[in-house]
Amino acid sequence: MPRKILVTSALPYANGSIHLGHLVEYIQTDIWVRFQKMLGNTCYYVCADDTHGTPVMLRAEKEGITPEELIDRVWHEHKADFDGFHVTFDHYGSTNSAETKEFAQAIYRNLKAADLIEVRSVEQFYDPVKNMFLPDRFIKGECPKCHAKDQYGDNCEACGTTYAPTELINPYSAVSGAQPERRNSDHYFFKLSDLRCQEFLRKWTRSDTLQSEASNKMQEWLGSESENKLSDWDISRDAPYFGFEIPDAPGKYFYVWLDAPVGYMGSFKQFCNANNINFDDYWKQGSDAELYHFIGKDILYFHALFWPAMLQHAGFRTPTKLFAHGFLTVNGEKMSKSRGTFITADSYLKQGLNPEYLRYYYAAKLNGTMEDLDLSLEDFVAKVNSDLIGKYVNIASRTAGFITKHFGGALMEMPESVHPIYDQSSVIALSNEETDRADINPQSVNKLDATRDEDHLINNPQKLLHEFQSASPALAGIYENRDFAKALRLIMRLADIANKFVNEEKPWELSKLGIQPEKLHFACSLSINLVRILTIYLKPVLPKLAVQVESFLNVTPLQWSDALHTLPGGHTINPYQHLMTRVDQKQIDAMIEANKQTLEPATDTHSPARHAEAQQHAIAPIAETISIDEFSKVDLRVAKIVNAEHVEGAEKLLKLTLDIGEAQPRTVFAGIKSAYDPEKLKGRMTVMVANLAPRKMKFGLSEGMVLAASGDAPGLFILSLDDGAQPGMRIK
Ligand SMILES: [Zn+2]
Repeated sequence: MPRKILVTSALPYANGSIHLGHLVEYIQTDIWVRFQKMLGNTCYYVCADDTHGTPVMLRAEKEGITPEELIDRVWHEHKADFDGFHVTFDHYGSTNSAETKEFAQAIYRNLKAADLIEVRSVEQFYDPVKNMFLPDRFIKGECPKCHAKDQYGDNCEACGTTYAPTELINPYSAVSGAQPERRNSDHYFFKLSDLRCQEFLRKWTRSDTLQSEASNKMQEWLGSESENKLSDWDISRDAPYFGFEIPDAPGKYFYVWLDAPVGYMGSFKQFCNANNINFDDYWKQGSDAELYHFIGKDILYFHALFWPAMLQHAGFRTPTKLFAHGFLTVNGEKMSKSRGTFITADSYLKQGLNPEYLRYYYAAKLNGTMEDLDLSLEDFVAKVNSDLIGKYVNIASRTAGFITKHFGGALMEMPESVHPIYDQSSVIALSNEETDRADINPQSVNKLDATRDEDHLINNPQKLLHEFQSASPALAGIYENRDFAKALRLIMRLADIANKFVNEEKPWELSKLGIQPEKLHFACSLSINLVRILTIYLKPVLPKLAVQVESFLNVTPLQWSDALHTLPGGHTINPYQHLMTRVDQKQIDAMIEANKQTLEPATDTHSPARHAEAQQHAIAPIAETISIDEFSKVDLRVAKIVNAEHVEGAEKLLKLTLDIGEAQPRTVFAGIKSAYDPEKLKGRMTVMVANLAPRKMKFGLSEGMVLAASGDAPGLFILSLDDGAQPGMRIK
């Protein structure tokens, strides 16, 4: 039985252009969906523009148009960008739809009926000129720490400190420039701290719904069984606001992040209505359909906590699994407007660069984990030219012409495969297995990986064909696991073997000499069959190129199971036409030039795009090499934080009492006040430098140092240990 699968990508915000960072996600999702469709599964891919919120409202006002006009224009821009990169949604909607509104209100009403909504008075900055409450990002002022001017209300871009907007010195409204007032207003909260939510989420985040890195993150956010670390979520905003009004609460609107994921449902509902599909088959509780959300790691919190808790308690099904991915860097650094590496989808296409270059390059780097992905432009040029042109296209371009010239385009019959090959049902069975399937059919994967006696294959056409055909189930398992990098490595190994075969047979010499026409016919026919199989395996990544090849091969659209048979003897192919040109470094240079400083600064804060951009990072340079002896001079120990407290008069410090198994606990002053609530540190295990010379400080003697990670972006992160580590254990 084919599977029923619904797939989504995160909704791009209707306040900016699609850039290459966004495309990591859409291309990844599109490849996976195309693969599922080739397998014969029922797989729908829906998405929508995320349209609500203050940034859209203010931008429309600035442009002198209505928010509806703005989001309509941006919708068309986004859609054109996705089309340009062959990202093919079954439906691309908008959160500003009757369907999304209906679901947002239904979810809210159900949560309210379940006693999971609470109203509380909240004090916030209010712009008395614009007559509106100001989101953090629309308040600016002087940083309370380093006194840099014109910093945002949530963090300082100069020193990286995070703070509440009320801590800013001389705050002003970024919208009107007015001095904001503090005002109270009723806000609606989703009670995520409710025990029912906690219990459900503990179970949900531990089941097979998350990648292991994500699951670990969730356990950290949830804390231990005895803790209640989740806070209630403010889901309302006051008028004026572009969004959906909350039922029975005039002047109160759903916060844009509430209706954004509901947009998955709204968009799918529109698709169902147009195609006579039963919506409930996919969304009612107990549905046997699979539901997958592809997301960036920055919006995990929304998708792994709020979203499933809302669905569960509002009577809908929860996602089968979340697939989170990392961020894009360009040339090893955060995308940058001044360096020209903040590259829009549109500018890439305008340079005449083939979108399939980028699809291929991303796929060659995507491995199904949350690791960041680097687009090294030099490597991009080299890899595309070497793999796609030098390996894949090269096979057909060196052999097809002889079939047309000498044999009227007709192919020779291929030998039967030497071994029985897995049939389509076993391919589906393999890819159907639950679990993170790195272990799928390990034998055939290992076999593919191994560099074996390829000469042996080249001299035995039956074995050569079998090598290509028997890769099918293993590659299916690898695609299913989203380890596209591995799939492409294996496929390129097959392409190498096919090229060796062509080199060995030298059809150009056979043709010139006019001897052994049968040998020439066979070698070229086999090569064309190998190209066909490679095309099947590459088709999820290179859909447009596959269509060109299908046309040249004169075949109907290739399905995954087509790899298991060859083209019949006498089948005629069309004359070969050039399939793809090499990437030219000049086009890349022109694209970088075109992207320098062309973009307006983004002002939306909640959107995935903005977050991804904000959180992208370049690492600090690696320090000088040291010897193991030098390293072992540092005595690192497991420490239990037995007490943590604020220090009167200290801006940055917390006073920690650390047990490292000695008779007396140690006192350490740590500069982590900005990142940690002392109450939450008590009882935690961490790592300390135990042999650092004690330091006399204004507040007392500090007897060591606690280690924490930090980067350019705000935030400090102390270290944690795996279960079982005991205070005093040495770290080496
Ligand atoms: Zn600062």
